[in-house]
Amino acid sequence: MQTQTIKGYTVTEEGYYGNFGGAYIPELLYKNVQELTENYLKITEDHDFKTELNKLLHDYVGRPTPLYLAKNLSKKYKAKIYLKREDLNHTGSHKINNALGQALLAKKLGKQKIIAETGAGQHGVATATACALLGLDCTVFMGEVDILRQAPNVARMKMLGAKIIPATSGTKTLKDATNEAIRYWINNTDSYYIIGSVVGPHPYPDMVTRFQSIISKEIKKQLVSLEGKEDPDYIVACIGGGSNAAGAFYSFIGNGVTKLIGVEAEGKGITSGHTAATLKVGSTGIIHGSKTFLMQTKDGQITEPYSISAGLDYPGIGPLHAYLCETKQASYLSATDEESLTAAFELMKLEGIIPALESAHAFAVLDKLKFNSTDVIVINLSGRGDKDLDTYLKNYK
Ligand SMILES: *Cc1c(COP(=O)(O)O)cnc(C)c1O
Repeated sequence: MQTQTIKGYTVTEEGYYGNFGGAYIPELLYKNVQELTENYLKITEDHDFKTELNKLLHDYVGRPTPLYLAKNLSKKYKAKIYLKREDLNHTGSHKINNALGQALLAKKLGKQKIIAETGAGQHGVATATACALLGLDCTVFMGEVDILRQAPNVARMKMLGAKIIPATSGTKTLKDATNEAIRYWINNTDSYYIIGSVVGPHPYPDMVTRFQSIISKEIKKQLVSLEGKEDPDYIVACIGGGSNAAGAFYSFIGNGVTKLIGVEAEGKGITSGHTAATLKVGSTGIIHGSKTFLMQTKDGQITEPYSISAGLDYPGIGPLHAYLCETKQASYLSATDEESLTAAFELMKLEGIIPALESAHAFAVLDKLKFNSTDVIVINLSGRGDKDLDTYLKNYK
């Protein structure tokens, strides 16, 4: 067992953050994962790769995204609240930062066939987009239930040229789609698997964190010109698998100044049996190739997560967050469906921004934090709410 504790976000060579992470994979995937482990840093740290990706992020995705001072929200919560506008990215969320990075990496590895899993369809759309752009073949696994409740994103993926394979096992949602994708990968080892969050076997959590770290790198630069300092007092981000939070935390971990706040989806309440707050109700185990916190029964069966927002509806959490939580380098709160809806409607009214339901969870904890009037708070607005209009309309009072 790895017990080495390393500050912040640094992963060991075997892919551990403290006791969490690693690569627990079937023998048949060993070669693929090993190839990736040996090459991901070599390729992604290469000057030409960086230049190519940065150009795409600038010209195609629309980066850097603004860091916007939300004056009305600031007035209400009596602190300086900035929003990192990942909702303004092409395809509507932070997912494209990672999808594009990995698609480009796959191409450098000589792979032509891409597979991906998706829940709400955001990662599927981002991956289908990156594949269309780079001329790669794209297959997306999606739970049958999610296919029905996320019809517009299914249509988008199809129009972008992706093939959709329904996952019909279990509850036919994200975890089942991930299982199907892994099963397919075992039988099609010429494919490259683009995982959509900081989950899965090493090197995925580290690789996805690095691709998303552009969020905090930009925040640092933007704060210097807006506030004359690079470190905010708080960073707040919602957590499904934890990729937008990992990217928003990255440059601030262990700086001794910034309080890092992750917000999980509490669903109908921690003890309701309908929740996705993994760090609150979960325990250590292995899920999708990684040792981390997950929701499970006493005999180790994964329990069904629930959240009103499909993007947070995952029974695990990235190993980096399990580690930051255990070592108290970050704090993890949770917000219910109801609290998140209220926060979303408040953001619409106060700032004229319709957030993704996932992102609304980050805003829902503003009430629970005690700020000083001089505090600088950055909320990562991970995505826009177009995909959630149905849910908003059903709940609008
Ligand atoms: C997918 C998604 C999330 C959750 O995923 P993380 O990996 O935790 O970031 C959050 N917000 C939006 C808008 C998403 O699409």
